[in-house]
Amino acid sequence: MLSTLRSIVQEVNGARDLQEALDIIVSRVQSAMNTEVCSVYLLDPETNRYVLMATQGLYKKAIGKVSLAHSEGLIGLVGSREEPINLEDAPSHPRYRYFPETGEERFRSFLGVPIIHHRRILGVLVVQQRESSRCFDEGEEAFLVTVSAQLAGVIAHSEATGAISGLSLTGEETRDVSFKGVAGAPGVAIGQGVVVYPPADLDAVPEKPAEDIEQELAVFADAVSAVREDISQVAERLAPQLRPEEQALFEVYLRILDDNALPGEVVARINGGLWAQAALKQVVQQYVRHFEMMGDLYLRERAVDLRDLGRRLLAHLQEGDPKDVTYPPKTVLVSDELTPAMLGEVPRGQLVGLVSVRGSGNSHVAILARAMGVPTVMGMVDIPVNQLDGKELIVDGFEGQLYASPSADLRTFYQEICDEENELVKGLEALREKPCETTDGHRLSLLVNTGLMTDVVRSLSHGAEGIGLYRTEVPFMIKERFPSEQEQRETYREQLEAFAPNPVTMRTLDIGGDKSLTYFPISEENPFLGWRGIRVTLDHPEIFLVQVRAMLKASEGLNNLQIMLPMISNISEVEESLHLIYRVYHEVREEGFNIHMPKVGVMIEIPAAVYQVRELAERVDFLSVGSNDLTQYLLAVDRNNPRVAQLYHSYHPAVLQALVRIAQDARAVGKPVSICGELAGDPGGAALLMAMGYDALSMNAASLPKVKSVIRSISHEWACNLLDDVLLLDSPHVIKSCVDLALRSAGFGRYLRPRRASSAEEKLSQSS
Ligand code: PEP
Ligand code: MG
Repeated sequence: MLSTLRSIVQEVNGARDLQEALDIIVSRVQSAMNTEVCSVYLLDPETNRYVLMATQGLYKKAIGKVSLAHSEGLIGLVGSREEPINLEDAPSHPRYRYFPETGEERFRSFLGVPIIHHRRILGVLVVQQRESSRCFDEGEEAFLVTVSAQLAGVIAHSEATGAISGLSLTGEETRDVSFKGVAGAPGVAIGQGVVVYPPADLDAVPEKPAEDIEQELAVFADAVSAVREDISQVAERLAPQLRPEEQALFEVYLRILDDNALPGEVVARINGGLWAQAALKQVVQQYVRHFEMMGDLYLRERAVDLRDLGRRLLAHLQEGDPKDVTYPPKTVLVSDELTPAMLGEVPRGQLVGLVSVRGSGNSHVAILARAMGVPTVMGMVDIPVNQLDGKELIVDGFEGQLYASPSADLRTFYQEICDEENELVKGLEALREKPCETTDGHRLSLLVNTGLMTDVVRSLSHGAEGIGLYRTEVPFMIKERFPSEQEQRETYREQLEAFAPNPVTMRTLDIGGDKSLTYFPISEENPFLGWRGIRVTLDHPEIFLVQVRAMLKASEGLNNLQIMLPMISNISEVEESLHLIYRVYHEVREEGFNIHMPKVGVMIEIPAAVYQVRELAERVDFLSVGSNDLTQYLLAVDRNNPRVAQLYHSYHPAVLQALVRIAQDARAVGKPVSICGELAGDPGGAALLMAMGYDALSMNAASLPKVKSVIRSISHEWACNLLDDVLLLDSPHVIKSCVDLALRSAGFGRYLRPRRASSAEEKLSQSS
C-alpha cells in the first residue's frame, strides 16, 4: 500500500496543473482500490459550492457542471462533519442528492473523505460501488484518508497556481487573488515581484518565458559542452582507480547528454518559448519522476544521477547568466527562503516589500525587515513562488496577506493605506527631540535594536536614546568567512560612535537556531534547542575572545560599550564568559588601549533563566529580556514555523506572568532590566511593560516613534490599570483584544492597523 501511495503522490506532484493532478488522483485511486467510481469535488471559494472537478466512473460530461451547495447532499455532509462517511446504501440516506447528469443511480456504496489543508476544507474525495458489490471496509477507509491527507497540500498548491494565473477553479478569470501567510513586518507595499532563488537549485528555478530564444539556445549548448567536458575529464582522472563497471557510469552520463537525449528535449522546450533554465528544470524533473517510479532498484537510483546532471547543467547556465537580476523601482522580493544577503542585493531605495515561503513572524529575517521598515509576509506555504516573477503584487504586512493581479479598486484602497502610513510617520517626526515621558511624569528610555549601519542612521533620525541590542551576528551573516578582529573593530566602532555618549549594548555572537553562517554550517535535528548563542561561543573561545577584543578596542575613548550574553541557561555560562571578558580586558589594557571595563549583562530568554533572575543579576550589571525566544521556549512554539504561528503569542498569560516576575526579581536585587524582544515595539506591549517596571524598551527603529507617541499620551496609572485588568484574563486573544480596545478608546486605533485596510478586506469579502 505504501508504495502505491508513494507513486500516486509522486505522479500527482509532477502534474502540470490542477486538472491534471485531479485526473491522476481519480484514475490512480480508482484502480488502486479496485472500485467503480472515484471522484473529487472541490469547494469553490468564490461560490462556496462543491464542484465535481474530476471523475473516473461517472459521466465525464458532468465535470464542472454538477455542483452542490456548501451543506448539500452527502458531499456537503462529509465537508461539514470534517470526517469520513462510509455508507452501504447511500440512496437511502436522508442527505442523499441525486444528479441524473452523473449517472450515479447505479451506485450504492459510498465512501467520502474530506480533503483538509491547514484546517481549511478544500473538497471531498469519493469512491462508489455498484449495489450488489461491497461496503468499503476499514482498511479502504484508512487508505482513502491517507491519500487525501497526503494530497491536500498538492491540491492547495495547484489551486494557488491556477489562481495566480488569474483563473478560478472553474476556469473563470479572477482578480485580487489573495494568499494568507503570517504578518512579518507591518506596512503595505505595492510593487512588482522579483523571485530570487539559491543557485543550482532546480526546484527553485522560476518559469519564465525566453526573452531571446536564440540566445537561450546558445547558452544551453555552451552549458552542455562544458558539462560534457567536465565529465570526460573527471572520468579520465578517475579511470586508474575505477573498475570498468564503475567507469561505465560516466558513459551513461555522456549518453544522457547526447544531443538526441536530454538536451534534445530541453531545446524543444526552449524553442517552445521557455528560458533555458526552466526548460532544463522541466525535462530533468520529468526524467527523475520517471526513474523514481521504476520498480527496479538500479534504475530507480539513476534518478540521482539525473538530478546531479541537471544541477551541473544549471550551475553552468547560471554562471553564464550574469546574475544581474533586474530590480524594478518597486521591487517585492519573493523567495522560498529569504536571507539577509538577498535583501542586501536590491539597490538602495528599490526594495518595497518581502515575501517568504518559509519562516514566521519572529524569524530573524522578519525582524531585519521590521528594522528596515519593509512590509513583509512570511510563511506563505502554498504560494507558487515561481509564478510570481514579474507579477504586480500587494503585500499587506499588517495582516500577513498577499494579493496578486490586483484590480484597480484594490490598488486604490491599498495606495490610500500607504499614503496614510507615510503621513503618520511624517507626523511623528516632530517627536524626535521630545522625552519619552508619560502625562504623569514617568520617564522611560527608548532604545533601538540594530544590526546594520542603515539601522543606526534610521534610529538616530527617530530619536533613539541608545542601542539596547546590537545583533552582532548580522555583520557575520553577510560575509563569506568570519570577519577578522580589525574588520569587527571597524564595524563596532561605527555603532559606538554614532550613539556616543549614549550606551550601545553589543550582544556577543548569537548564531544557531535560524541564524546560520554559510561558512560555519550547523546542522541539527532541533536547532533552537541545540548549539546556539553562548553555547557555541563558549565552545569556540577563539571566536568569543576575538569578538570581545574587537569590541573593547572599538570602545576606546568612547566608553559607551555594554556587552550582553545571549541564550544563558545557567550560572556557569555567565561565570565562564565573565572570566574570558576580564581576561581580554586586561590584555587589551596591557597592549596600551585606554579603555574602561564595560558593563556586562545577561539576556533572559530561556525559562530556566526566569527562575534564576536573582542569581544571574547578582553576577552582572544589567538584564535584558529577549521576549522573542522567551515566548518560543515558554510556549514550546518554534518562532520560525508558520504552521504553529497562531500559537506564538507574546500576550499569552504565561508570558506576561513571566515578564512580571522578571521585572520584580530584578528590582528586588536593584539591577536595571530592559527588554529587547519585539513586544517592546508593540504600542500595547510597551504600555504593559512600562507598567511592569521595565526601565528601558529596545525595539526596531520603525516602531520607536509610534511607541513614544503612545507613552507620551498616556499616564503611568492608566498603563498600570490596564496591566491589572489583563493579568486577570486567561486567553491571549482576549488579552490582545482588551489591549487593542484600550488603545482604540484612547485614540490610538491608527497605530494598530490603518483603518482602510479593514474596509478593503470587508469590500473584498462582500464581493466574493
Ligand atoms: C529575543 O529573543 O527576544 C531577542 C531579542 O533575540 P533574537 O530575536 O535575536 O533571538
Ligand atoms: Mg533571542
